[in-house]
Amino acid sequence: MDVLLSEAQIQERVRQLGRQIEADYLGRPLTIVAVLTGSLILLADLIRQIQLPLRVALHQASSYKGATTTAGPLAINEAFVPDVAGRDVLLLDDILDTGHTLATLVEHMAERGALSVKTAVLLRKIGRQVVHLEPDYCGFTIPDAFVVGYGLDFNDDFRHLPYVAVLDEDHTTGG
Ligand code: 5GP
Ligand code: MG
Repeated sequence: MDVLLSEAQIQERVRQLGRQIEADYLGRPLTIVAVLTGSLILLADLIRQIQLPLRVALHQASSYKGATTTAGPLAINEAFVPDVAGRDVLLLDDILDTGHTLATLVEHMAERGALSVKTAVLLRKIGRQVVHLEPDYCGFTIPDAFVVGYGLDFNDDFRHLPYVAVLDEDHTTGG
């Protein structure tokens, strides 16, 4: 596997994002809603860089993977839906790919009465967005390759890697 972003690079960038978020919200209570499971590592690192009144909630959603390559509708797990009424929400995800996941969840948070909804991602893939969504905070822009590590998985493997790497072809084909 080729390392794309080293542990040191990620840690430095997460610190910067924390400073930026702190400055933007400036003493206002913030609710960070992390999209399971890929954003867990980012969540743990990022919240320790933010000195604000802070609440954490988790959200679970997955797109139905059909026979086609286009993502199907997003299935939201109602058991996880956090109470965000009247709160400033920052939605946190590992990676912005097509944009379907975050765009749907932004709408969902607004429907649930959030005061404001912003988005933060560790990674954003070049040339993949089909839904227009400009993340408010973005760690790194990366080329269109399948990446793992720092929360991102391949069949639930590799989430624990402290860096982000491009998965080899032979991994994806079972070799
Ligand atoms: P979107 O709804 O933006 O198309 O997809 C976002 C989700 O797709 C992410 O939360 C992540 O679970 C998955 N995803 C997209 N690209 C990658 C990738 O390169 N590696 C991994 N591990 N997951 C990805
Ligand atoms: Mg995933």
